[in-house]
Amino acid sequence: MKRIAIIGSGISGLSAAFTLEERRRAGVPVEYVVFESGPRLGGVLVTDRVDGCLVEAGPDSFLTEKPWAADLCRRVGLADQLIGSNDADRKTYILVKGKLIVIPDGLMFMVPTKILPTVFSPLFSLSTKLHMAREWFHPPGKAEADETVASMVERHYGPEMVDRLADPLLSGVYGGEAAQLSVRAVLPRFAEMEAKHGSLGRAMLAARRKMPAATPARPLFTSLKDGMQQLVDAVVARLSAAALRTSTPVQSIQPQTGGWLVSAGYVSDQFDAVIVATSAQAAAALLQSASASLASELGAIQYTSSITVNLGYDQQVRSSLPPGFGFLVPRSEGKQMLAATFVHNKFPHRAPEDRALLRCFVGGARNEQVLQAPDEEILRVVRAELRQIIGLTAEPLFTRVYKWKGAMAQYGVGHLERLERIDRLRQQLPGLALAGNGYRGIGVPDCVRSGSASASDVLVFLGLAEAEPPAKVSQSA
Ligand SMILES: Cc1cc2nc3c(=O)[nH]c(=O)nc-3n(C[C@H](O)[C@H](O)[C@H](O)COP(=O)(O)OP(=O)(O)OC[C@H]3O[C@@H](n4cnc5c(N)ncnc54)[C@H](O)[C@@H]3O)c2cc1C
Repeated sequence: MKRIAIIGSGISGLSAAFTLEERRRAGVPVEYVVFESGPRLGGVLVTDRVDGCLVEAGPDSFLTEKPWAADLCRRVGLADQLIGSNDADRKTYILVKGKLIVIPDGLMFMVPTKILPTVFSPLFSLSTKLHMAREWFHPPGKAEADETVASMVERHYGPEMVDRLADPLLSGVYGGEAAQLSVRAVLPRFAEMEAKHGSLGRAMLAARRKMPAATPARPLFTSLKDGMQQLVDAVVARLSAAALRTSTPVQSIQPQTGGWLVSAGYVSDQFDAVIVATSAQAAAALLQSASASLASELGAIQYTSSITVNLGYDQQVRSSLPPGFGFLVPRSEGKQMLAATFVHNKFPHRAPEDRALLRCFVGGARNEQVLQAPDEEILRVVRAELRQIIGLTAEPLFTRVYKWKGAMAQYGVGHLERLERIDRLRQQLPGLALAGNGYRGIGVPDCVRSGSASASDVLVFLGLAEAEPPAKVSQSA
């Protein structure tokens, strides 16, 4: 019987555990132990029920385009629980000079693919619209080195596009800044499109033309009827209860002849392999004595913190709010809020018909220190900004503030080269696998994929599975 330790029970660690559990049930001689420092399993996937509303403390959904999270849902029997976002009402606003302006139709991420809606949109100045027209003739060519998202977007569409779209969109997904994040790690498809087509607009249209005409439109986001916690609960229910150790922080992992020694509290336990499914920062601390160089590379992957502020309101507020999924706030607007989601529109059944549910984001690279502020102060700021932005003055029926310290990995310029170095150093420590949002995608689907892949790698290393040919995957969140 081979023993595998999994450190961290976020969705990355749980996917690794479930992959091992599937193999164990199929007769593979393997057992696993999941170590979790906190009192509950699931990491940042937490769903609460308040006043008839389903409140997501962490992620509320995942990109439908990336199949791995939905696949895991199916593997744990939740196929009939998958739901799509209410895209009939999909409309997102950008705050520009204090006013909400809708993102024009045909803008894919930040690439315009329809001329008229963009030409008539007040979101962009004439100068940006001229940039967009010139972009059509951008010559193909691969940038010599990695660069920031801001630098690439500015080369194609000018600085206003960075401020009004690239930066707020990335704040929403990564809690990060376009001026820091690596285009090759965060938007690899953009780098590929530029190399092949030059113009991102022409590349998007070419990709769309290749799609079969009858492809049914899928919702942009997928989630679960009872919230993201439903995935955690379903996975945990299928794992062996004796293998789950909550409130058990691992202090160190040490390679030993023929295995690994995992030390948690006063207890040390021997394993044949270890999957470290924590943040890269926590992995660095765990691996410090095993390999200082690996720890140093892992520790160089930066993280930002995030706060979600959920506010419930009555029917009167609901009918006074704008339609659509919510709004993004560019840095130039000088607000603390990064974005707000109108949950009752995005996933209607998450709030009863007589309730409005708002989910606001604060923090990120822009405002790390806000994590120190008491909840009341954060609520005061969010409510003041909601009053300024959408004229919302009503008292909320309930509020919930969730703070996530160092939860969002930031893929800086050179991230992919760093991953190659990490991989080389990791291979010097046989039986060690890394999973989590610090490496090849921050979104839930990528974390699921990384957890499952780490489990498969470890099984191959232990001679319990055949190596599979590598799949081509996108690295963006
Ligand atoms: C507020 C917020 C909103 C988000 N929204 C979305 C979204 O809508 N869609 C989407 O796709 N993604 C979203 N994300 C990103 C995504 O949810 C995360 O990247 C992903 O869930 C991370 O999973 P993980 O398992 O890698 O890490 P985590 O969930 O952080 O889990 C790591 C676990 O390791 C444990 N741990 C750490 N050190 C130790 C140790 N020494 N010993 C034992 N245990 C340890 C921690 O306690 C934690 O439970 C969001 C993230 C946040 C924070």
